[in-house]
Amino acid sequence: MTTYEDNLLKSRDYLRRFSETVTGHFINGQFEVPAGAQTFENLAPADNTSLGKIVAGTEQDIDRACEAAKTAFPEWRDMPGSARKKLLNHFADLINDRAEEIALIESMDCGQPIRFMKQAALRGADNFRFFADKAPEATNGQALYQEAHTNYTMRSPVGPVGIITPWNTPFMLSTWKIAPALAAGCTVVHKPAEMSPLTAMLLAEVAEQAGIPDGVWNTVNGFGETAGRRLTEHPAIRAVALVGESATGSHIMRQGADTLKRLHFELGGKNPVIVFDDADFDRALDAVVFMLYSLNGQRCTSSSRLLVQSGIKAEFMIALQQRVNNLSVGHPLDPDTEVGPVVSQEHFQKVMSYMDIAKTDGATIAVGGKAREDLGNGNYICPTLFIDADNSMRIAREEIFGPVLTAMSFDSEAEAVQLANDTPYGLAGYIWTRDVGRTMRLAKNLEAGMLWFNSENNRNLPSPFGGMKASGIGRDGGDFSFDFYMETKNVCVAHDLHNVPVLGR
Ligand code: NAD
Repeated sequence: MTTYEDNLLKSRDYLRRFSETVTGHFINGQFEVPAGAQTFENLAPADNTSLGKIVAGTEQDIDRACEAAKTAFPEWRDMPGSARKKLLNHFADLINDRAEEIALIESMDCGQPIRFMKQAALRGADNFRFFADKAPEATNGQALYQEAHTNYTMRSPVGPVGIITPWNTPFMLSTWKIAPALAAGCTVVHKPAEMSPLTAMLLAEVAEQAGIPDGVWNTVNGFGETAGRRLTEHPAIRAVALVGESATGSHIMRQGADTLKRLHFELGGKNPVIVFDDADFDRALDAVVFMLYSLNGQRCTSSSRLLVQSGIKAEFMIALQQRVNNLSVGHPLDPDTEVGPVVSQEHFQKVMSYMDIAKTDGATIAVGGKAREDLGNGNYICPTLFIDADNSMRIAREEIFGPVLTAMSFDSEAEAVQLANDTPYGLAGYIWTRDVGRTMRLAKNLEAGMLWFNSENNRNLPSPFGGMKASGIGRDGGDFSFDFYMETKNVCVAHDLHNVPVLGR
C-alpha cells in the first residue's frame, strides 16, 4: 500500500504543472489561456496554499466554446453509435491508465480522503464504459401498433448541451454527466466548479488523447455568476444539466427561461436515515457513520438527519458517539484519514457557523463542535454530532454539507414518516428495519427520489438517480439519461386502410 509520504511526493510531481502554468480552457480541441485573461488562485483545502492559477472564463470564452460545440454537433450526431462506442470505451481505458494521478490530484484539490478518491478514476471509467456500450442503441424507440396506423418512436440527440458541476466529487460527477451526453450524440460545454477545477482539465486532456473530434468536448473554467450564467443563456445550448445547490437551480431556471432551456437538476439534500428498533444494530451503525462522515459529509446523498426509534435510542447513541469520537481526521493523502478538510475557508466558516446555531436553537453538541487547529492551516473540522435536536431546528432543515450529523428520535412508524418528509428536500432516504411489510409501506410513503433499505448508498448505473422537491428535476442513469439528452420523435405511418376526411371535393 502506498504511504502518506509516497502520496505526498507523487502528488507534488503531478501538481507541479498546475502551479508552474496557468490553467485555462479547452475549446475546439485547443488548450488555451486567452490573452489578458483574469485569473484566480486555486487553494488546497489541506493547507490553503495555492495549487495554481485558474482562468476566470468570460462570456466571450463561453460564446466561443458554445459556437465550437454547435459547429461540431452535426458530425458527432451523425457518427454511427458503434463508432462513438469505440471512442468512448477508448476514453475509459485512458482514464484507467491515469488512475493514480487522477486520485491524488482530486484528493488535493477538493480535500476528500485518498481512501475514497482511489475509486474516482475507476468509477469514472465505469461511467464511460456503461454509456459507451449503450450508444449504438440510444436512438432506438418503441413500436406502437394501431389497426390502421403504426407509430414508432426514435430518439435523436438534443444538440449542444451545457454541463455544470460542483466541487464535492468533481471527477466522478463530471464523467457521470458527460458520458451519457456524448454517447447520446450531444456535444458538450463543461463548466467545472471554480473550487476544484483540476481533474476537469485532466478529462479534457484525455478527450484530446482519445481522439474525440474538435469541438465535441469543451471545458471552460470560471465562476458561476459569469461563465456559468452565460452558458445557461447561450442560444446554441439546447439543454443544461446542473449538479449543485438548490438555489443555483433556481437561478439557472430563470437564466435559461428566454431560450427555453431543457433542464436537469441534481441538487441538495437533507436525507434521513431511519433506524427502527428491529434493525440490524451493527450494520445500521456502520452505515450511519459511513453515510455521513465519509467524503467529509460533502455528499449530496449523505444521511445528515438521523432518526432513531426510542426503544434502541440510548444504546445506539452511546455506540454512535464512540464511533464519531474515534474517526480519524487528517491530511487527505494519508491513507489512514477518514475525514479530511472541507473544501474552502468559506465553506469551513459556513459549517462552523452551525455550531453556534445548534446551541442557540437548543441542541447539544455531543461530539466535536470545533475546528482541528492542531492540524495546521487547513479547513479541518472535528466530526460533530448534534443531539437533543428536533426537526424544526436549522441544523435539521438546512443542508450543512460538512462532517456534522443531527440526531433525533421517534416512537412510531407514522412519526418517522412525518419527520422524514418534513423537509424541503427529497433526494434520498435510508431505512433500517427487518420488517418486510414496513419496507413496502415506507417505499410508498417516503418523499425521496431514492430509497435504500438496509444499505448504505449503493450505485447501480442503470437505476434512476435524482431527487424530488428541492432536490432536483429529472433522473440520471441508464435510459433515463438518454431521455434528457435526446429528443423523442413519433413517426406515424398509415396502412392505407382508414378513411381520410374529405373536404371541398
Ligand atoms: P453550487 O450550486 O454553488 O455550484 C455548482 C456549479 O454551479 C458550479 O460550477 C458553479 O460555478 C455553478 N454556478 C453557480 N451559480 C451559477 C449560476 N448563476 N449560473 C450557472 N452556474 C452557476 O454547488 P457547490 O457548492 O459547488 O456543490 C455543492 C452542492 O451540490 C450541494 O448542494 C450538494 O448537495 C449538491 N450536489 C448534488 C448532487 C446530486 O446528485 N443531487 C451531487 C453532488 C452535489
